[in-house]
Amino acid sequence: MSYFKRNEGTIFFAFASIGFVAFYCINYFIRRCRDRSASAGNTSEEAGMSPRRPPRGLDPEAIDSCPSFVYKEARGIKPGIGELECVVCLNEFKDDETLRLVPPCVHVFHADCVDIWLSHSSTCPICRADVVL
Ligand SMILES: [Zn+2]
Ligand SMILES: [Zn+2]
Repeated sequence: MSYFKRNEGTIFFAFASIGFVAFYCINYFIRRCRDRSASAGNTSEEAGMSPRRPPRGLDPEAIDSCPSFVYKEARGIKPGIGELECVVCLNEFKDDETLRLVPPCVHVFHADCVDIWLSHSSTCPICRADVVL
């Protein structure tokens, strides 16, 4: 009787562990499939967004249509502009440098600096306002 009971217990344990292992395997496979399809979805999404392309910026014509001027001329018109520096390169504006003004917020940068910036981003480097033309 005690032998039978022990045997029964062993069989029960065997079935239970087989069931557990099977459950674990199925679970594992489901998760693996899901992970794979999820990562496949991600890569195809990235491919769709063409990762080689830099973040969306403005095209050269749009950048050119932002008003630009030589610093000393603008300084003559607006004396208050005198203390400014370019936040892109952190250099002060010099008299003979060409500056460019970003339309919505009227922040001013070196034309060379902001041209590069705007070719990668369509927002103002200072306040992140969308550059609208
Ligand atoms: Zn600069
Ligand atoms: Zn701004």
